Amino acid sequence: MFICKRVTDLQQYLLTAKKQGKDIGFVPTMGALHEGHLSLVHASRAVTSCTVVSIFVNPKQFNDPADLEKYPRPISRDLQLLYDSGADVVFHPEVHDMYPPGDKTSIEFDPGPLAEPMEGLFRPGHFKGMAEVVYRLLEMVKPDRLFMGQKDFQQVAIVRAMIDYYKMPIELVMSPTMREPNGLAMSSRNVRLSESARERAGLISSVLQQGKIEMDNGKKFSEIRASAWQQLQNAGFEIDYFDIVNGHTLKALQDGEFPDYIVACCVIRLEGVRLLDNMIWRDNG
Ligand code: AMP
Repeated sequence: MFICKRVTDLQQYLLTAKKQGKDIGFVPTMGALHEGHLSLVHASRAVTSCTVVSIFVNPKQFNDPADLEKYPRPISRDLQLLYDSGADVVFHPEVHDMYPPGDKTSIEFDPGPLAEPMEGLFRPGHFKGMAEVVYRLLEMVKPDRLFMGQKDFQQVAIVRAMIDYYKMPIELVMSPTMREPNGLAMSSRNVRLSESARERAGLISSVLQQGKIEMDNGKKFSEIRASAWQQLQNAGFEIDYFDIVNGHTLKALQDGEFPDYIVACCVIRLEGVRLLDNMIWRDNG
């Protein structure tokens, strides 16, 4: 496994790999890896001949300095996990490698309405920072395929729009969310939950699943949303949002609308930790 911090080392390695006819799969992460991240590595290894994983905690996408500070960074453990899962390259730059002093490169892509609801409301500036770092990483790696998790559904929608905007020759693959046995979506932030909170948080995926059943039985979105909200609140969770949206536009659905792509997305807060989850309720696209 080739490990590097500097962009020039990464590019030199990839030049050789591409000359050898290898196709490149890319998995961008912020480290503190778990089975969810590793599932993306496996997905990449299954269809490409060189898998590049980046580990970079991007300060620009944190609007809360305390969250950035507390973000776990177990680099030796991460490297071991990536070695064991068969990654070919790990790129883990420092902040000054990604954003050299004086470099004012900014991207003109504007995610527009895709970045406005949900995370956009609760984390101002988050998607601008995310898009900027993903753009820089894609320019450095120039992968054939990019692997991202459905867990961050809004993020995937924005990156897809950015790839289309720049007409980048990259296939974006969205991989399913890996979950704990109780249904809790795996996340690097879960380590900050107490054992009992981690157990109780399984309710989020049950509520999402139940909502789909209710939709299939003809219940109105407004009623499904109200009952989901009630159950989560009764369990003592704080709710940032529980939105049922058109998966293409991310616009909240009104009763009676029934597009071919329907996704329920939510964030609840428990012990000060934001837990993000979603479920695709309909995909006839
Ligand atoms: P992060 O390190 O949180 O930026 O995540 C890096 C990538 O892993 C993103 O594409 C995430 O959507 C994906 N990811 C995070 N958690 C999961 C999960 N539980 N299952 C699948 N993919 C995930």
